[in-house]
Amino acid sequence: MLKNGLKTDRRSFIKIAGGVAAAGAFAGAISMPNVARAAGARVVVVGGGTGGATCAKYLRRADPSLDVTLIEANKEHYTCFMSNEVIGGERTMAGIQVGYGGLAAHGVKVVHALVTEIDAAGKKVKTQDGKTFAYDRLVVAPGIDIDYDSLEGYDEAAAEKMPHAWQAGPQTALLRKQLEDMKDGGTFILVAPPNPFRCPPGPYERASLVANYFKQHKPNSKVLILDPKDGFSKQGLFIQAWEKFYGYGTDKAMITWIPASKQGKVIAVHPAEMAVETDFEKIKGDVINVIPAQKAGKIAFAAGLTGDGKWCPINTKTFESSIHAGVHVLGDAAVATTMPKSGYSANSQAKVAARAIVAALQGKDMADPAYVNTCYSIAGPDHCFSVAAVYKHNAAENKIVAVEGAGGLSPMDASAEDRKREVGFAHSWYNNIVKDSWG
Ligand SMILES: Cc1cc2nc3c(=O)[nH]c(=O)nc-3n(C[C@H](O)[C@H](O)[C@H](O)COP(=O)(O)OP(=O)(O)OC[C@H]3O[C@@H](n4cnc5c(N)ncnc54)[C@H](O)[C@@H]3O)c2cc1C
Repeated sequence: MLKNGLKTDRRSFIKIAGGVAAAGAFAGAISMPNVARAAGARVVVVGGGTGGATCAKYLRRADPSLDVTLIEANKEHYTCFMSNEVIGGERTMAGIQVGYGGLAAHGVKVVHALVTEIDAAGKKVKTQDGKTFAYDRLVVAPGIDIDYDSLEGYDEAAAEKMPHAWQAGPQTALLRKQLEDMKDGGTFILVAPPNPFRCPPGPYERASLVANYFKQHKPNSKVLILDPKDGFSKQGLFIQAWEKFYGYGTDKAMITWIPASKQGKVIAVHPAEMAVETDFEKIKGDVINVIPAQKAGKIAFAAGLTGDGKWCPINTKTFESSIHAGVHVLGDAAVATTMPKSGYSANSQAKVAARAIVAALQGKDMADPAYVNTCYSIAGPDHCFSVAAVYKHNAAENKIVAVEGAGGLSPMDASAEDRKREVGFAHSWYNNIVKDSWG
């Protein structure tokens, strides 16, 4: 299976990986323009996840005279990346926790509060505790919200019984606890989301790592994926891994995937009965992980940044909102077609946005940006694969488009040694992105 119809083999994959590293550097600090300062301009960043934290840091790196304030609701952040390892019992919650001390060291003023109002005309934001922050430019990076209206029976109370664990933190710990408490011989149901959603390979990585946990500790248990789609990211590579480790497609299969065309779409959930309903039947589970449709974080709606849709339209070169001038939206909340909603995308977009903001504050134009994304999926013991892409800007269509020849998937015929090596790459990627975003 090849991304964008490109052919890739092991040699070209290595070349591509090198290209990605180079593009990452271009989209990162090294490429920041050496500019005169827009002395003392105030930039407020709402949301200190991957996108917001990176943007705050890179704004200060691009122009240390900027007065950058990051407003984040929580005192610490749990990364969604590697949270599937927590759910599979391979990592602790502390292993996905990051703090904000690193950003303060870059001169970013960090405020912990919930932003409740954005006054785009008056150029100020308000927090729940009644404070007001004036800005010259605003960055909004609130991530996703669960779309509770999208699935009958699923609301915040239901999420306490059937966790989504699609925003890392207490939901991740809850799902892990439910799996630990589940009897051997139980059924874990994963209700996969419709497109578009954060981390396209994430549900399938999660199913793999839960099966890996069952194989070691509860070998009579099963994973059932119910999907409203007929295909998913890195499908060929996942199925190959499931065949290798979890008997996929045999009568001893530990993982079963039911696509939309085979009645896999869940139309309602029944938390009291611990059951989900498709057009065809009601299915009971012992642990049920419901990952519903998603939308931009609440504040984006409150600020009118979503227009008539569920995500925020932007200028894909500068990340400036198509609705409110002077407000930049990035990461999962933005319509950054054709980049996937991922942490690496958010990190890359944040660097481009920082550069655009500095240019705008100085009344200058900016050069055409490059963007990058790589996403690793761990699917079994010592078994990982990845997808990588470099992107450029297409001004005519206001799109971010993949650069032909500079991307692809890990090959289907990679050796066991290569798959194991990619596990090491994934963990090192994690350490690097955490340091790059919050360190
Ligand atoms: C299971 C799973 C696995 C994943 N694995 C990977 C992976 O391997 N690689 C990868 O690249 N991506 C991965 N992702 C995707 C990645 O986590 C997201 O795409 C990324 O976090 C998006 O960054 P963001 O800054 O847009 O949002 P977030 O990181 O969610 O940050 C949003 C922040 O804004 C804050 N906030 C929201 N509203 C307000 C407000 N009103 N006031 C103040 N603060 C506010 C929130 O508290 C939060 O800290 C994974 C996701 C999941 C669910």
